[in-house]
Amino acid sequence: MPSLSEETKGAVKQLMPGTTIGIVGGGQLGRMMALSAKYMGFRIGVLDPTEDCPTAQVADFQVTADYDDDAAIRELAERSDVITYEFENVNADAIDTVRGTVAVPQGTDLLRVTQDRVNEKQFINDHGAPTAPWRQVDSVDELHSALEEIGFPAVLKTRRGGYDGHGQAVLRTEQDVHEIESRCEQGGMPPSILEGFVDFAFEASILVCGNGNEYVTFPIVRNEHRNNILHMTIAPAAVDAAVAEQARGLAMRLARGFELSGILAIELFVTSEGRVIVNELAPRPHNSGHYTIEACSIDQFDAHIRGIAGWPLPQPKLLSNAVMVNVLGQHVAPTRELIADHPEWNVHDYGKATVKHNRKMGHITVLGDDTEQIVEQLEATGCWDDLK
Ligand code: AMP
Repeated sequence: MPSLSEETKGAVKQLMPGTTIGIVGGGQLGRMMALSAKYMGFRIGVLDPTEDCPTAQVADFQVTADYDDDAAIRELAERSDVITYEFENVNADAIDTVRGTVAVPQGTDLLRVTQDRVNEKQFINDHGAPTAPWRQVDSVDELHSALEEIGFPAVLKTRRGGYDGHGQAVLRTEQDVHEIESRCEQGGMPPSILEGFVDFAFEASILVCGNGNEYVTFPIVRNEHRNNILHMTIAPAAVDAAVAEQARGLAMRLARGFELSGILAIELFVTSEGRVIVNELAPRPHNSGHYTIEACSIDQFDAHIRGIAGWPLPQPKLLSNAVMVNVLGQHVAPTRELIADHPEWNVHDYGKATVKHNRKMGHITVLGDDTEQIVEQLEATGCWDDLK
């Protein structure tokens, strides 16, 4: 393995082709990061418990163990020059223990902030970006006083571990509160956060990427969810310049606040009055950024790798409007049957061995000026009828 110069250990200055990027997590995000890194000449190691996982299929080596296995993280660190991760629930303490051996340009503050909804909301507000009103809630009594301040409707979420709508309840009436009370009778209330319910016009997201000292943003895009899972991304979101600028401005403030390296995805609510409110952060490439592979001058995975490698970042340009639709387990068979009829489909398959209902198996991106028409054409295929 080519060795790094002294100055590139610890804080990465510039990582050169031939060095090794270790990725914690071997799903589709790791796979697409690895593919980008391969074009640039990096070697890839991955830590994942599943043999031949999506990332391992395109990597140079796999450490097969659980993500929080300390010895496995040490092994990945020893065999790599830099460590990154494809999801935010990585054990930050374990990563801290290997920071003397390997560069971790993203640091662990970013992980600690984004793993905990209270820390996350506090960080967002401290950096001048708006969120729904929120209160930390650790007991039924605190839930009552928080509800007095925030009012109905509100959303109660666990502080940690929730994703894609899991670990949360919408509270609209006293009856909903009673249900929470009886659920908490035995085990008590898990550390939680109460948020005001945002009456948004639509959901959106924006990606920002850093290399530790300069930051670039991608355009704001519109996201459609079904059953709390991202279904479609429409790029760009049809918003006026003031909305796009609010999103860009808050993304830059958050990126500077983190001295960001790599990609940060920011999930947003846009209200009918044109206010942009932050919902949550993901310190990694994001499903809503997959459209960038075909539609942008630099995609989110290339940008992430350049960022963690300390390379300069070009400003991403949207080269074409685009629609990205997810292929979940139940969509694999119907979409494969239609591949031959749709040369305009950019088909991505993540190489997962087991097809499961609602599991993200791949995605399709279609480029074109008229995104409404593309959405109609995709819907007319019937492949996604289960989500109607
Ligand atoms: P989250 O797990 O925080 O991303 O939430 C999952 C989904 O729940 C979001 O994509 C929204 O559709 C909805 N949601 C979450 N928080 C709120 C809120 N404060 N107001 C309205 N809808 C919300």
